Amino acid sequence: MRLLIPRLPPVYPTALDIAKRARHIANMEFPPKPWPVHEGERVEPLVRRVLAPNPSAFTYTGTESYVVGSGCDVAVIDPGPLEESHLAALLAVIGDARVTAICCTHTHRDHSPLAGPLRERTGAPVIGCAPLTLEDDGPRSDAAFDVSYRPDRVLADGESVAGDGWTLTAVATPGHTSNHLCFALEESGALFTGDHVMGWSTSVVSPPDGDMSEYMESLQKLHDREDRVYYPAHGPAVTKPRQLVRGMIGHRRQRENQILRRLGDGPRMIADMVPEMYKGVDERLWPAAGRSVLAHLIDLEQRGRVARSGESWTKID
Ligand SMILES: [Zn+2]
Repeated sequence: MRLLIPRLPPVYPTALDIAKRARHIANMEFPPKPWPVHEGERVEPLVRRVLAPNPSAFTYTGTESYVVGSGCDVAVIDPGPLEESHLAALLAVIGDARVTAICCTHTHRDHSPLAGPLRERTGAPVIGCAPLTLEDDGPRSDAAFDVSYRPDRVLADGESVAGDGWTLTAVATPGHTSNHLCFALEESGALFTGDHVMGWSTSVVSPPDGDMSEYMESLQKLHDREDRVYYPAHGPAVTKPRQLVRGMIGHRRQRENQILRRLGDGPRMIADMVPEMYKGVDERLWPAAGRSVLAHLIDLEQRGRVARSGESWTKID
């Protein structure tokens, strides 16, 4: 089998690297060539990675699905977007093995929609994150969510699913979405991090489903673990996980301080702050940046540091 998956080096970026990379990606032409989609690369004895054909400013080179197990059965993590060609690629990599579990880290449209068709083709149960629930204050989902997602079994934090020589344990990591799970491969010390921690960019945290307080707690949770390597759903493997997570926690604290400094001069609106805070960042990313600023402000509001009045935010001394 040819090895065509990203020729990107393993990374352990700082927060500054992450910001630079995001800027670079935003200016990138898509799809970049050569495009290593649909090939299974064995990234370690128990894990193969299959890249889906959905590159974008938000998905980097595309969604990476993982096939876990080298014996008579496997699990598939994040089957990916609804693309017939990606389903065929996954089935080719799975080969004669039985699929014991189809696991989704969360239900954004670039991660879970193929779970249904893969279940139909293999008979395997969908086991993993919860479907998005509706809250009293209105639907938490938006156009980015896969509303067709119907799991056969939801894993709570610490619960596992196992097969021939592999065990995947759910690590609840809400923040990017309220239902986000990472999966720990107990036999090798690898952690599948979905969109919670990625090497190429910081995560989008977009309220109301995205929650900055939960996201920071979930970063701390990973920092306190001793995983050997991260396999995110976008971008290359992360070989120095704690260093990256430390950088991300620092990056968010910097953003929070930036916001508080700006509010120190008087009430401000998000739309005014974003161009100053994201100077040099491609304007197409400003709406997403605005969502992150809102997530920080809601977090600060809950901690009693800021107050809002309509669109305007004020610092509380
Ligand atoms: Zn996502």
